[in-house]
Amino acid sequence: MQAWVVERPGPIGSGPLRRLDRPLPEPGPGEVRVRVSCCGVCRTDLHLAEGDLPPRRPSVTPGHEVVGTVEATGPGAARFAVGERVGVAWLGRTDGSCRYCRRGDENLCTGPAFTGWDTDGGYADACVVDERYAYRLPEGLPDEQAAPLLCAGIIGYRALRCAAVPPGGRLGIYGFGGSAHLAAQVALAQGMRVHVFTRGEHNRALAAELGADSVGGAADPAPEPLDGAILFAPAGDLVPVALRALDRGATLAVAGIWLSQIPALDYAAELFEERRLRSVTANTRQDGEEFLRLAGRLGVRATTVAYPMAEAPAALADLAAGRFGGAAVLHNDPVSASAPPTA
Ligand SMILES: [Zn+2]
Ligand SMILES: [Zn+2]
Repeated sequence: MQAWVVERPGPIGSGPLRRLDRPLPEPGPGEVRVRVSCCGVCRTDLHLAEGDLPPRRPSVTPGHEVVGTVEATGPGAARFAVGERVGVAWLGRTDGSCRYCRRGDENLCTGPAFTGWDTDGGYADACVVDERYAYRLPEGLPDEQAAPLLCAGIIGYRALRCAAVPPGGRLGIYGFGGSAHLAAQVALAQGMRVHVFTRGEHNRALAAELGADSVGGAADPAPEPLDGAILFAPAGDLVPVALRALDRGATLAVAGIWLSQIPALDYAAELFEERRLRSVTANTRQDGEEFLRLAGRLGVRATTVAYPMAEAPAALADLAAGRFGGAAVLHNDPVSASAPPTA
């Protein structure tokens, strides 16, 4: 089969990815092999390709927003039938035995395996997954629509919960890409007032189109105090900006796996009065199940841009350059792939 691998991490323009011929992976005990229909492109893939995230395995295949069908089952795997559609997400496995797993915080597991970082992911014709960590997907949702829900959607949903905005409250969203535009739809459907702060015309247009209450520049002051905020942009210098926009007692949740340096904080203006700063680390399977159910019910729709699988490096380069709004999705089936945006 064909699979992209991160060969030499470095700037996306330097060609860190290479496409190789690899043997089809055999599912082990409790695993299934998924024939990849499409795979979403997540900013984490870019951080991995560029070396911001240190590779955990040489020549790993990225991709953790995988939609496909089960084509082979390993010994003892019985959760899915061959031919069934499944989703494969970032959380590939946990040890189930560390103190965090035992208390229900498997997102903090000390012995996890992440898809497309520890194990080979979906920038390929097929990949293998522990069936306990695969998801059933809402029916009637096309593969391309379902892919971005699997990381961008689930992490955005966890971040939204971490921001702890009360019903009808005021949410700030800093950065508006693949994850933010899905979280915003849930927030708006739940009656929150949503203020978006972002640079990039595509992102601003998308936020307005989805019904955000206001759309401002990345570091603009908020039009009203915020009951909670999420930082999706990987920009540490926005942390004090967002903290200053919070009302007393409110929380800023940082959604990214990577963030540039946070400048020194001003305690009085940015943290005092019980403002909270917290990170969001991976997700539990419960977050995933909950979000996918909610997404099906609320009709959450991903804005997607299709690329052929062969164009994975171009999709990552376009993501790095902010050339599209929403989420890029790689397709193995050339028929269903529409044209990528022109730069
Ligand atoms: Zn654990
Ligand atoms: Zn991701």
